[in-house]
Amino acid sequence: MEKSTGCPVSKFQGGEIFHGFKIARVEAIPEIRVTACEAEHLKTGAKVLHLHCDDRENLFSVGFRTPSRDSTGAAHILEHTVLAGSERYPVKDAFNELSRGSLQTFINAFTYPDKTVYPVASQVRADFFNLARVYTNLVLKPRILRETFLQEGHHLTFEDPGETKSPLTVSGIVFNEMKGAYSSPDTLMYKALQDGLYPDTAYAFDSGGDPDIIPSLTYEQLRDFHKLYYAPANARFFLYGDIPTEDHLLFLEEMLAGFDRVRVESSVGSQKRWAAPRRSRRLFPIGKDEKPEGKTALNMGWLMMENTDEEEAVLLQVAAHALIGTAAGPLRKALIDSGLGEDLSPVSGLEHDLKQVAFAVGLRGSDPEKADRFEALVLGTLRKLAGTGFDRDLIEAALHQVEFHGKEIVRGTLPYSISLMSRVYHTWLYEGDPLSGLRFNRIIEGIRRRWENEPDLFQRFLSRWLLENPHRLLSVMEPSSTYQESQLQAFRERMAARKAGLSEETLEKIRRDAEALQRNQMEPDSPETLATLPRLKISDIPGDIDQVPVERTAVSGIPVLRHEIFTNGIAYLDLAFDLSGVPPDLQPYLPLSGRLTTGMGATGFTYEEMAKRIALKTGGVGSSLAAGLTADGRETWQKMIFRVRALHRNIPEALEVLFDLLTQGDLSDASRMRDLLFEMRNRMHAAVIPSGHIFAQRSAAAAQTLSAYLDELWHGRSQLQVLSAAADSFADGQGDIVGKVETLRERILRQGGVTVNLTADAGGLRILEENLAPMLRRLRGGSLVVTSAPVTPPPVSTGIAVPAQVCYVAKVLRAPAYSDPVSPALYVLSRELSKGDLYKRIRVQGGAYGGMSQYDPMNGFFSFLSYRDPHLVETLRVYDEVIDSRARQRVDGEDIERAIIGSIGAIDRPLDPAGKGFVSMIRDFAGITDEDRLKFRKGVFAVNADSLLDAARRCLLPALETSSIAVYGSDDRLRKANETLRPALLIEPLLGSPGQSRT
Ligand SMILES: [Zn+2]
Repeated sequence: MEKSTGCPVSKFQGGEIFHGFKIARVEAIPEIRVTACEAEHLKTGAKVLHLHCDDRENLFSVGFRTPSRDSTGAAHILEHTVLAGSERYPVKDAFNELSRGSLQTFINAFTYPDKTVYPVASQVRADFFNLARVYTNLVLKPRILRETFLQEGHHLTFEDPGETKSPLTVSGIVFNEMKGAYSSPDTLMYKALQDGLYPDTAYAFDSGGDPDIIPSLTYEQLRDFHKLYYAPANARFFLYGDIPTEDHLLFLEEMLAGFDRVRVESSVGSQKRWAAPRRSRRLFPIGKDEKPEGKTALNMGWLMMENTDEEEAVLLQVAAHALIGTAAGPLRKALIDSGLGEDLSPVSGLEHDLKQVAFAVGLRGSDPEKADRFEALVLGTLRKLAGTGFDRDLIEAALHQVEFHGKEIVRGTLPYSISLMSRVYHTWLYEGDPLSGLRFNRIIEGIRRRWENEPDLFQRFLSRWLLENPHRLLSVMEPSSTYQESQLQAFRERMAARKAGLSEETLEKIRRDAEALQRNQMEPDSPETLATLPRLKISDIPGDIDQVPVERTAVSGIPVLRHEIFTNGIAYLDLAFDLSGVPPDLQPYLPLSGRLTTGMGATGFTYEEMAKRIALKTGGVGSSLAAGLTADGRETWQKMIFRVRALHRNIPEALEVLFDLLTQGDLSDASRMRDLLFEMRNRMHAAVIPSGHIFAQRSAAAAQTLSAYLDELWHGRSQLQVLSAAADSFADGQGDIVGKVETLRERILRQGGVTVNLTADAGGLRILEENLAPMLRRLRGGSLVVTSAPVTPPPVSTGIAVPAQVCYVAKVLRAPAYSDPVSPALYVLSRELSKGDLYKRIRVQGGAYGGMSQYDPMNGFFSFLSYRDPHLVETLRVYDEVIDSRARQRVDGEDIERAIIGSIGAIDRPLDPAGKGFVSMIRDFAGITDEDRLKFRKGVFAVNADSLLDAARRCLLPALETSSIAVYGSDDRLRKANETLRPALLIEPLLGSPGQSRT
């Protein structure tokens, strides 16, 4: 979104008929500057909603309501399967082909508990309609081949694939994906609440598939699932962007031709309300050597109203935020202060994505016998609040947060339109008004009016939906160090029993079928088949880069970068402090230092009072750490960045809050410090399994460059170890932490090493600048000089033992930095490998959820990664083989062209307003100019078979010698791998050093 002129004018009016569509209504929504047009296709009953605005990143998405009837994962496997070709586009892996050869800025598919959604986005009109055309055809008329079902769903094979004497086992991409999901304690915790609170509905089943049940799905059932739900009558088309509504309707008219209106029974039933609360107890896996004490999660959940009443749901959201949304929330505080657990469990909050809204709150780091006390504490606290009412500021803060987040344009990995789509589905999927979640100004006004007339509004709310609501579940999640093992054992026994009942001939047939499947998977589509997919020519691609406006100024001698960008009324301020004066022994404490700075009290305010000020006046105050190489690769930059975001009217107070924290932070509250430390440790620990490939990448990359080493130290396993040690020894170590954080603050938070980065529209920039100078003067003067720089460790082959049923395999090589002439070729090469051989061999053939390579020119390394991978040794072999093959053979020209188009799509991926300002600042640190970017982009266009071969030869082959390997996987898998791997992996437990590992 560059500039906005407000809501576009629609040529339609409600009630009008246009090319077979009845326009239901047209409505402007000024809060987000869109004009919504809702329509229905008369012949089929397909529903359409277009949010017309001036964003050129257009989104097309088609969603079906797909409530599950069992936990076979039919919805999820079908989602994978429809993307594997239709009659018209009989391409084996249409999804991968579309994503690699288009300028898509987003392409994916999501299976939710009651819907399946297929979104694609692009900034180029022709590309957009190409993608939308293929996607619509794939979902409505897929081939659903048996081979695809076997590959994506499940099939029988042998642990040693060619050997019928080896144990019988199951493979399949979704099967392995869900094994990964079921290794994550957070996922299991959500699941326990969801199927616990909605036991008599579709939500009692896992639409993603339970690995124990997935193998019972038949091919016929999968086909039936498609017949049942994937009809236009059950489709909701959500469209967004600057393409006019009539163009979308004309396109959809063509797509829907030939379909009739059929009756689809897809309604989602409501859960019947309970007369009395219930309890449940479940297990989740921890490492074999981990102690179960203090690792239980206790959660309470309530089933509340139907999702279609948006104002009521926002009221609940406000109440939930007031209760637990900030450190000042009375329920959050009561739980944390009780000492019954370590931090709030990740399920805490409002579940707004299902037919009935639910609220949950819980504690992590507890014990099962504390469940009664936990429950009594929650109910007691709520009872007290229902009597006394909330602190007014907490409600005001919650209303402010609804306004702020409703307004803010956020595009992280997902386009902004995806978040609007989710808000629309909250009501649309259940026949409610799709626009009600977008008109947050109207809702806030409505709530304010009600609150004025009924001052006890929120108290009555607590009574009605929490205290007097018997539909309540207490869920106890207990850690088990044998869970993983016994699950695996049970699976092996089931498979052994099954194998025992099979004849030699049948076993031989299983082997042959699995082999045939492998062969089939590796066979490429013919050029004629591939040609059925519409494709952009390189000449269709815009030649320019998207420039971020930047103006260099100074305030009181401090450098300021200024970005005038449309931000929908929000202003962003970053303060980036240089870290080159931080001694190596203090480097590991930077993350903690940042969190303690933004999370504790300051200027005489307690942390609760600060938390309230932050929620009342800002959209959030945060800190982050970033490091990278300069464009020429010669130097390393490293920064600690503090950011505050605020609505224009709150800018002065928001700056005040940030500088109070930076200059007069108070570290005296030991119990708050402990809570923050435990929260950090627990969050990071919980992130390891879901992001195993990233942790593995960091572990391996640390040996390659200083910036990658720092990244690992701050965000990788080393950081988790630092936080764990600090948490374990907190009782006698607090003084030590205070001292370290104080030293760090004193060294870093100075005028001398800071860069100010401002992102807002002209009005916002003016207010920021008017208030900045006196604030900056509050920082200490000067800067401190470099002491000794940290040194990167030598390359290693390590195996990190984690409780997971699958592996995460990383191999990282040193590679040239951004401005090296070879870097565009490496960029294209990583893309070509990811979408080509690695995809085919690790995902399609190997059954892993993902296999990819990444070139990071900002940190100077090239990596190979696998995600939720059933293999380990084989995967490492694949890495070596593809490097070898790229250094010996030229890649096919068609593949290169697709990789170039895909690379350009990745380079051009749009950023949200805050992201533009931030990325521009990072480029400044790296010394990358728009000219450099243009040169890099031109370099990408110029890549050919020779330059690719040359890049692999000159950069990858020689770097193999100093490459490093890190594998995250179960202890058993790592040990088994070491029987054949040379050099063997140095095995270490996730927390701890090699010496502590079992032998
Ligand atoms: Zn999936």
